[in-house]
Amino acid sequence: MEKGYLLGIDIGNTKLAFGLVQENTHSFQEKRVVPTEPELGAEQAVEKIMANTRELLKAVPGKVKGIGIAFGGFVDTTRRIALASPNFPGFRNVPLVSLIEGLAPGIPVFMDNDANAAGVGEVVYGKGQGCSQVLYLTISTGIGGAALYDGVPLAGTQGLAGEFGHMIVLPNGPRCTCGGRGCLESVASGTSIGRIARERAQGRATMMTSLAGGIDKITAQTVSQAARQGDRLALEILDEVGFYLGIGLANLISAFDPDIVILGGGVMNSADLLLPRAVRFVEEHLTPRGVQVPPIEVSSIHNDIALWGAIALAGCFYIVD
Ligand SMILES: [Zn+2]
Repeated sequence: MEKGYLLGIDIGNTKLAFGLVQENTHSFQEKRVVPTEPELGAEQAVEKIMANTRELLKAVPGKVKGIGIAFGGFVDTTRRIALASPNFPGFRNVPLVSLIEGLAPGIPVFMDNDANAAGVGEVVYGKGQGCSQVLYLTISTGIGGAALYDGVPLAGTQGLAGEFGHMIVLPNGPRCTCGGRGCLESVASGTSIGRIARERAQGRATMMTSLAGGIDKITAQTVSQAARQGDRLALEILDEVGFYLGIGLANLISAFDPDIVILGGGVMNSADLLLPRAVRFVEEHLTPRGVQVPPIEVSSIHNDIALWGAIALAGCFYIVD
């Protein structure tokens, strides 16, 4: 029997990625990445999404079985609309699902936010395969995630379940992007690690300053780079990040009792520097209660996880409209 194809579309603030994958395979038949260019407005981004989708559908005529969209912002999964994206203000209330359906009559189209999609991607293609209860966290410029039961992300009443980045781990802590204080994102995201390092590097001897070429240029990557060379301040900062991540994970494991916790996102390139601290906190906190700590692992599909998530959505026909 002739195999069909799944088409995934990942809509981020910096890039739009498209992937065509043959059913039951784990490699791209075709992959395209184009810049989002939010400064040029939503209309041109939608045009690029439509043009690339149209071309990929043409590449395998009549063979695409499903289309999935991972959107880097808020999604109304019932109305199937991309509501808003924090770093792409012009992209609001775009009826993406209907637009794509218009290009591909009869082909099912599914959309979710990129963190939920990535969680589905982990269940279908990554370390969540064969697990019924999966917690996925992405730690990059921000922190997001998904709690999945049998491959389906918990949506919540307002579609806001899985906003793990906004759990409070430090009351009255630093101001968060959400307006609150002391959220996990405000102390453990890539952006926050950079900010904390720039604050603490003032008046301290640290190789982060020279590595970055100035205090103002220190980023989360600088912190990891310096930590690997034994810089005390960098190690201290990452130890603290690991500690707060541990608090977050202990809370999440207590709430969800998952089979596995999977961590993705750019900050996990430094997992060796901060994850042992986090896992130690989780164990110290949960083991005395008799809780068996689930495996806490780094995603194996680091690159393109949201795109793989979109492709996984294309093949999972669970979202009700
Ligand atoms: Zn927050």
